[in-house]
Amino acid sequence: MIRFLDLKAVNQLHQAEIDAAVSRVVHSGWYLLGEENRQFEERYAQYVGTRHCIGVGNGLDALRLIIRGYKELGVFHDGDEVIVPANTYIATIIAITDNGLTPVLVEPTWENLELDISLVEQAITTRTKAVLTVHLYGRIAYTDVLGEICRRHKLKLIEDCAQSHGCRWKGKRTGSLGDAGAHSFYPGKNLGALGDAGCVTTNDTALASVVRALANYGSTEKYVFKYVGMNSRLSEIDAAVLSVKLKYLDADNAHRQELAAYYYAHIQNPNIQLPCRIPDENNVYHQFPVFSKRRDELQKFLHSLGIQTLIHYPIPPHKQECYSQWNHLSLPITEKIHREELSIPMNPCITQDEAKTIVDALNRFGVN
Ligand SMILES: *Cc1c(COP(=O)(O)O)cnc(C)c1O
Repeated sequence: MIRFLDLKAVNQLHQAEIDAAVSRVVHSGWYLLGEENRQFEERYAQYVGTRHCIGVGNGLDALRLIIRGYKELGVFHDGDEVIVPANTYIATIIAITDNGLTPVLVEPTWENLELDISLVEQAITTRTKAVLTVHLYGRIAYTDVLGEICRRHKLKLIEDCAQSHGCRWKGKRTGSLGDAGAHSFYPGKNLGALGDAGCVTTNDTALASVVRALANYGSTEKYVFKYVGMNSRLSEIDAAVLSVKLKYLDADNAHRQELAAYYYAHIQNPNIQLPCRIPDENNVYHQFPVFSKRRDELQKFLHSLGIQTLIHYPIPPHKQECYSQWNHLSLPITEKIHREELSIPMNPCITQDEAKTIVDALNRFGVN
């Protein structure tokens, strides 16, 4: 049986150091807003290449806090529009609607699976205040043209980096390309904690201060509340674990890139389409999506051979019950991705033998 993702195996790669980090925090007697947070924030800011990093409770909160932060700063207002790719994970959309703003769903390209930048300008209205780009599957969803459009129209560029830890554009990491980046350290991400965790990265000092306050009840000093905030903090244990795992992130991503190179070289089946290959610098392969008109059949076939797969994601946000106001929208490329996508095992624990088994199985699908 080849599991899609064995988190126990992922963390066992660095078991001794993780155990030592957890034990250090347990014995310190200090569990929130302490030295471990301070150190991890400093290390991750340096890694990403931003002036600020603020540890928060999870990736959804990181997104929410950025948008809320811009509201508190008077940049965003209720009813403002945010351009966002239609084929994202629901959290990206929830962060916008939760703050009383309106997501404007824009199609991705079939080739790149990311926001179709040629459609961004025509989606801009007088109410548009931001573009929220999503580096889905670990693929870069930024180009210089997107940056230029945002500057010309005075839009904030927010990055959803939940799937792109370490991914780069011209040497700069995701999370440093726009005005603010939201990162998730959900256990299954490329950089994963032992529970929910996340952070915000930014060079905007005013935004950083508001986000830090909002994440701690809106407090700027103890028992003084400037905002009606929330409680969204990164635990000291997770900060300590993340400091350990951050050291190995680039090596883990390199393993993913080697596995991807093997998949690209060896998967050959007319019933299966691979996503267009982009340079390794621009892809940290959080997922390796393949596409098939017979996706459900392919998934069953692989499961019958002991290979676990997942669909990212079976139902697009605009077809969800919670967003019934958009159920009528027709977004053909988004819908095609959701109909045909299948993620095959992709993580630092997949061995060469397992990779060969996966490729052989894919190549046998539908072939007599
Ligand atoms: C995981 C994920 C999130 C949310 O992160 P959580 O830590 O689970 O809240 C947001 N956006 C994308 C694209 C994700 O994959």
